[in-house]
Amino acid sequence: DAGGGYGGGSLEEVRVPDIGDFQDVPVIEVLVRPGDTIRAEDPLITVESDKASMDVPAPKAGKITDVLVAVGDKVSKGSAILMLEAEGKAAAPSAAAPSAAAAGAGEQKAAAPGPKAATHTGGADLECEMLVLGAGPGGYSAAFRAADLGMKTVLVERYATLGGVCLNVGCIPSKALLHVTAVTDAAKGMAEHGIAFGKPKIDLDKLRGWKEKVVGKLTGGLAGMAKARKVRTVRGVGKFLDPHHLEVALTSGDGQEPTGDKQVVKFDKCIIAAGSQSVKLPFIPDDPRVVDSTGALELTTIPKRMLVIGGGIIGLEMATVYSSLGTRIDVVEMLDGLMTGADRDLVKVWEKVNTPRFDKVMLKTRTTDVKAQKNGLKVSFEGDNAPTEPQLYDMILQSVGRTPNGNKIGAENAGVAVDERGFIATDKQMRTNVGHIFAIGDIIGQPMLAHKAVHEAHVAAEAAAGQKSFFDARQIPSVAYTDPEVAWAGKTEAECKAEGIKYGKAVFPWAASGRAIANGRDEGFTKVLFDEETHRIIGGAIVGTQAGDLISELCLAIEMGCDPVDIGKTIHPHPTLGESVGMAAELFEGVCTDLPPQKKR
Ligand code: FAD
Repeated sequence: DAGGGYGGGSLEEVRVPDIGDFQDVPVIEVLVRPGDTIRAEDPLITVESDKASMDVPAPKAGKITDVLVAVGDKVSKGSAILMLEAEGKAAAPSAAAPSAAAAGAGEQKAAAPGPKAATHTGGADLECEMLVLGAGPGGYSAAFRAADLGMKTVLVERYATLGGVCLNVGCIPSKALLHVTAVTDAAKGMAEHGIAFGKPKIDLDKLRGWKEKVVGKLTGGLAGMAKARKVRTVRGVGKFLDPHHLEVALTSGDGQEPTGDKQVVKFDKCIIAAGSQSVKLPFIPDDPRVVDSTGALELTTIPKRMLVIGGGIIGLEMATVYSSLGTRIDVVEMLDGLMTGADRDLVKVWEKVNTPRFDKVMLKTRTTDVKAQKNGLKVSFEGDNAPTEPQLYDMILQSVGRTPNGNKIGAENAGVAVDERGFIATDKQMRTNVGHIFAIGDIIGQPMLAHKAVHEAHVAAEAAAGQKSFFDARQIPSVAYTDPEVAWAGKTEAECKAEGIKYGKAVFPWAASGRAIANGRDEGFTKVLFDEETHRIIGGAIVGTQAGDLISELCLAIEMGCDPVDIGKTIHPHPTLGESVGMAAELFEGVCTDLPPQKKR
């Protein structure tokens, strides 16, 4: 059965499609409102039986004129959901979510029109069923999954090691350094509890060596796993020749030095995972003292004074490392806050603890000029908190964001549409506008995070192999691995307010957590957000030590649609920081006995 029994004309009724074993099932969430413009396959409502919950997707794109169901209504196959002013043709046959994605032959097309593809008339040196371009967390995961599903797979990567930005110059080396500096800071803090260690002696070469060992262990592991799966890796810079051929200009050495040789790979299907790179501000001179995150992670020197341009997660993590090594730091940020994706109450806690790290945090301020001088980098500022005089720094870290590599891979020859910023649009099966070419990871958009790339990778490989997988995450967590850590998942309060979602919240202060007090780190809190109508959890956030590890429970709860009783009645081990999640849920219900009496709901 195709989705929705919609009549003729432009105004159509969208009905519940055949959703299998579901009769008179309650609607637990209405995800759209009159006036919304939707795309084909966007989820409209969530229904739930005693076995499972599932989203009913839109059969086609259009504008919603009326919503005919409310939370609590019971629906079956054929029940009217809403009225739609449809645009264009219907999407591929669509049932309810778990079987929605029309895989294989029924290729869905992403909305953007593509350029006219080229035709390669030459031969090929290598043929495969699946070609993956780029070996970051997206690319290697896609290649490994494709190989596990029985596809003859080739992985193209310009650098010597697999793992992309994340393993080589991103997540992993930054966390290796953050771990070392956190232990150093913790050791210093022990003096207050009666154990003094004395001033740390920093051996920069050894520290760098250790970081490189961590990276090497992981990238080496990936090479082994590629081999075990018979994934063939081709080292070089890939560029599409047409929709079924990629030319690889072979590279060698530590960087991307061309060998002068080329190889053409012919493929049946392809997953583009070519990632992103740091944005460079045009007015900043080329100077070894100006670095991006990759340069900062090289740890060539410990500067006395450093300017961090951009107060996002990457900038603040690197600021944490360098300040723990002894550098004095200024941060300049154009917006009116640091770590802007997170709710302000979390950031406030982080700011209080981190005040001693920074000489100046200049919000609503921009850098206007940088002069490379012998005695340092002379920087001028403009804005609300700009110093009157230019400032002198030994190092500048540019961390103002990352830009996708979409315009550097010859996508136009394959007929793949790339927008003006370099992003490639996909549908929920990660398909581009060209049916047999998929795209995943940083190159398809925000949030640019490794765990998002990996999940998209699995969907793309499975969809390419004809499975009915599609990407339908209720939440993608974000973590700043600073000290304290800041982590959030699902909706933030700011998002709830902007979207008009009625939510209730419970905040459990770590000042009431036995474990946090015993750790001497009770400044944090755990916050849980519930939908006021359904009482299902829609978001959560934690600020405090190890918040990044603790957030996973909230991620699972959001995906499972838990209510406060599910979470609060789950027995958590005592005394742990994780208990604070259960206690926040109890607090929402008014039954927490670790805090003064609350109002019962
Ligand atoms: P990438 O990792 O960018 O990989 C793309 C690969 O494609 C690269 O290896 C590149 O060399 C290759 N490539 C590109 N073009 C070509 C071509 N034409 N031919 C051949 N090869 C090509 N994310 C987190 O989730 N957690 C973190 O803690 C975290 N920390 C970070 C810290 C830093 C300092 C940085 C910079 C990023 C961090 N990220 C973190 C983000 C994370 O690294 C990215 O989201 C992730 O690497 C994206 O994966 P990807 O597979 O899409 O692309």
